Amino acid sequence: MAKIVIAGAGHGGLVAAIKLAEAGNEVSLYEKESLSELSYDWYDDIMLEVFDKVSLPCPPESYYEPKKQWRFISPDFKASIVLPKPKDEISVSRRKFAQYLIELAKEKGVKVYFGKDVGGLCVEGNEVVGIKVGDGEVNCDLVIDATGRNSVLREELVGLNLLSYKSKKYDFLGAFRAFYEYGAEAPDVPCQLILFHNGEKGISWCNFGAEGEGDLLIARFGGLTRESKNNALNDLKPKFEFLNHEEKRSKEVSICTRCSLPVFVSKGYAMVGDSAFMPMPLMGSGIESAMKAGNILAECIINSGCGFDALWEYEYEYYKQIGGDFVLIDRLKNGLLEKFNAEYINKVFASGLITSEDFNVLSTSQDAKLPKGFVCKKIKLAFKNFKLIKPLIPLLIKALKAKKAALKIPEKFNAKKVAKWQERLENK
Ligand SMILES: Cc1cc2nc3c(=O)[nH]c(=O)nc-3n(C[C@H](O)[C@H](O)[C@H](O)COP(=O)(O)OP(=O)(O)OC[C@H]3O[C@@H](n4cnc5c(N)ncnc54)[C@H](O)[C@@H]3O)c2cc1C
Repeated sequence: MAKIVIAGAGHGGLVAAIKLAEAGNEVSLYEKESLSELSYDWYDDIMLEVFDKVSLPCPPESYYEPKKQWRFISPDFKASIVLPKPKDEISVSRRKFAQYLIELAKEKGVKVYFGKDVGGLCVEGNEVVGIKVGDGEVNCDLVIDATGRNSVLREELVGLNLLSYKSKKYDFLGAFRAFYEYGAEAPDVPCQLILFHNGEKGISWCNFGAEGEGDLLIARFGGLTRESKNNALNDLKPKFEFLNHEEKRSKEVSICTRCSLPVFVSKGYAMVGDSAFMPMPLMGSGIESAMKAGNILAECIINSGCGFDALWEYEYEYYKQIGGDFVLIDRLKNGLLEKFNAEYINKVFASGLITSEDFNVLSTSQDAKLPKGFVCKKIKLAFKNFKLIKPLIPLLIKALKAKKAALKIPEKFNAKKVAKWQERLENK
């Protein structure tokens, strides 16, 4: 049985910790915050089915609400699309959820230490053999890095040339999130999201959110300036009355929107979740992918030990199951942000090319028939608006090629082959 250290109480690290401790490994977790300050004091969305997928019990119902319905609004506010009512998604209290996973981990025998900032790694030759916490060191067979987007551990390995990756322009959203009392009754569609708000690359949302709170988010790719934030607020205040109430609390955060690292394992070390940039690259939703990745990692270790072969098996499985699709989404996102602007999005909304019906079809097409005349209607619209669609075609081809390159990940680790794969992938 191995001695495994989890750095940070990220979701993937916690799922891995639970599974690995259950299988009899000696698992300890070091988290820099206290239990009461863990994660965020707001609600975010996940699919309920993720608990089945990672074979964990659902949190108590009092920890979540059904996800609310969303409306996407064009940059000029002249058109909007109402998304179908979410079926199996929930808005979960982030803090309660994190505390719930900690409780499960403790029940399985994970030793959890709060208020412990992991400052670095212990490295011998090219192998990670432990972590540095405070003045001390903790030796182990494997470090699982679940410290999130700004992992100092990852960067230490990059500094030692044991890992590498290329940063891109739209790797993150700089965001401001704030909460207000809303008093009034929520509208039929309680969540409103404005694309390319104020003509800038990003989104803003104003939601009649969980527990009767007005929920504001202003997020811009590459970072949010004070000027953008103020302009956005000034534009939204007359449109959403609750923004004129006193702000209850707020936080400046960043949301990871780049695709996963090409290589996120090294000898004695594996990343999971935001530390390896695993969220869905368009919206930055990373809870589910982190949990699934944590589950894959635990399965590989349970089946094959925590040597490098098992870690590479994890990397391979992740790319096959999740990472390949995220490469496609990432390249589409980068291309769209590079080539298109608010004016284009306004034209797409005005053209009727995308409707609420499309989202219904997308969400039910596995078991429902397309509505009569749907395909004909879409083809007619596509011809009529070919000018709008044409620039998307090369983008889509490029994104599909990048996904194909990602899925060519070598099944067995070979340094030369992996370096070649990484280079090809990063240049696509
Ligand atoms: C405003 C906003 C809205 C979002 N909405 C959604 C959503 O609706 N759905 C969704 O799926 N995702 C959403 N996300 C993204 C989601 O928060 C992350 O993708 C998700 O938390 C996965 O990250 P993680 O579990 O890897 O790590 P994190 O959640 O970042 O956790 C990392 C943990 O490590 C600890 N830590 C960091 N450094 C150290 C260190 N040196 N030593 C010890 N401990 C350390 C931190 O305190 C933290 O507890 C949102 C993010 C933001 C900011």
